[in-house]
Amino acid sequence: MFESLQDGLGSALKSLRGQGKLSEANMRDGLKLIERSLLEADVSYEVTRTFMSRITEQAVGEAVLKSLKPSEQVVGIVYKELVDLMGPVDHSLHLKGKDEVTVLMMCGLQGSGKTTTCGKLGRMLISRDRKPLLVAADLQRPAAIDQLHVLGEQIGAPVFSDRTTQDPVAVCNNAVKEAKKLGADTVILDTAGRLHIDDELMGQLGRIDKRCSPDQVYLVVDGMTGQDAVNSAKAFNDALELDGVIMTKLDGDTRGGAAISVKEVTGVPLKYMGVGEHLENLEEFHPDRMAGRILGQGDMLSLFEKAQQEFDQDEAQRLEDQLQKGEFTLDDFLKQMRQIKRLGPIKKVMGMIPGMGAMLEGTDALDGAEDDLKRLQGVIHSMTPEERRTPKIIDASRRRRIAAGSGVEPHVIGDLVKQFEPMQQMMTAMAGKGMGDRMKMVRQ
Ligand code: GDP
Repeated sequence: MFESLQDGLGSALKSLRGQGKLSEANMRDGLKLIERSLLEADVSYEVTRTFMSRITEQAVGEAVLKSLKPSEQVVGIVYKELVDLMGPVDHSLHLKGKDEVTVLMMCGLQGSGKTTTCGKLGRMLISRDRKPLLVAADLQRPAAIDQLHVLGEQIGAPVFSDRTTQDPVAVCNNAVKEAKKLGADTVILDTAGRLHIDDELMGQLGRIDKRCSPDQVYLVVDGMTGQDAVNSAKAFNDALELDGVIMTKLDGDTRGGAAISVKEVTGVPLKYMGVGEHLENLEEFHPDRMAGRILGQGDMLSLFEKAQQEFDQDEAQRLEDQLQKGEFTLDDFLKQMRQIKRLGPIKKVMGMIPGMGAMLEGTDALDGAEDDLKRLQGVIHSMTPEERRTPKIIDASRRRRIAAGSGVEPHVIGDLVKQFEPMQQMMTAMAGKGMGDRMKMVRQ
C-alpha cells in the first residue's frame, strides 16, 4: 500500500539520515526531496506547499539544530504534520438508538466501490448488533440492484428495491418509511453514481438528501484515482455537505496522495478505508498509521504508542535495551507474542510491523495463530535456556525430546526454528536502525 509515496519519502529520509548534524542548508535539501516525493505521490500542489512551509517553519530552528539526531527529528516533524493533515478522525457513525431509524446516505462516482462499501458497512453494523436495511437507489447502473441483493444475501440483511420505478427519491423515501416494518434500525442508501460529476446527479442526490434527511452522508472515493478523488470529494462536498469520506482500493499500489489531500482540501475526514474486494475488507482510517506507512515505517509508530499504554514500562525498557544490543531469543519472542496479543488479534498486529504486512499478504500464515501460540508456549517451555537462546543447536535428537515434552510432532519444532530465524534477523536489523531511538522519540 502507498508504495510509491513510501519509496519516495523513504529515499528522501534515507538521504537525511547519516548526515550527522543537520545544517540549515542540508535540511533544506532534504525538505526539497520530501516535497518532490509528495508531488510525485500525487499530493496536490497547494497541499504540498502548505505542508512544506509548515515543516520548514518547525524544522528550521534551534530545537532541530541542537539535537544529536536531527534527521530523526525531521522524521518526527514530518510524521506529526502528516497526522495533522489527515486527522483528526471520528469513527463513529452517529447511530441513533435502536428504536429509531438512522439513515446513512452513500454517494460516489460509478466504480468507486460504493455498492461494495454499502455491503461492507452493513456487515460491520450487523457485527455491532444493528439491523441494517440496504436500499437499491442506484437506478443508473443496470446491475446495481442485483449486486446489492447479492450483497444483502451474503451478509444476511434485507434489501429494499423497486424495479417498477425510475425515481430514486421515491425508492429512498419508501425504504425509510418501511424500515421499521422490515425490522431495520439503520438504513443504508446506495445512491446512483456517474462516470463524471454532473448537475443531474448532484440534483438527484440533493433531492434525496432533502426528502430523507439522512443522519450521515458519506462519500465513497476510489483511492487509486489520486487527484481525481480529491476533486470529486470537493464537488460532492460543495453540493451535499459530507460527514465523512470512505476511501476504497487502498489495498493496491495506490499513490497515497489522495488520502493526504482530501481532508486538507475539503475539511471532511476520512473515516474508513476499503482494503480489498471482500466484505470484511473495511477498516477504520487512522491518520497516525497512515503517516507511519507513508514514512515507510509501517505502523510501528502507532503500534508503539498503543504499546506504550499497554506494556509494562519496565518490560518495554528491557525490550528496548535488548533490541538495541541486537538480542532476540525465543523467550523474548514468546513474551512479545503475549504482549502483542493484548493489542488485538495477532494477524492484524503482526501486519502492522514493517515488512511483515507484505510477508503475510495472501497467506494464511497466522490463521489460527491464537491456538498456535498456546502450542508454541508448550514447545518453548520444553526447551533448555540454551536452546531458547540459540535454536539453531536443536538437532534431531533434541527435536524428539522437545516434541515428547510438549506433545507435538517433531517436525513442529523444526518448523518453529525455521520460522524463527528470519524473525530474529528482522528484529535485530530493526534495532540496528535505531528502533529504540524511534520509540523514545515517539514518547517525548
Ligand atoms: P460502484 O459503481 O461505486 O457501486 O462500485 P462497486 O461497488 O461495484 O465496485 C467497483 C469495483 O471495485 C468492484 O470490482 C469492487 O469489487 C471493487 N472494489 C470496491 N472496493 C474495493 C477495495 O477496497 N479494494 C479493491 N481492491 N477493490 C474494491
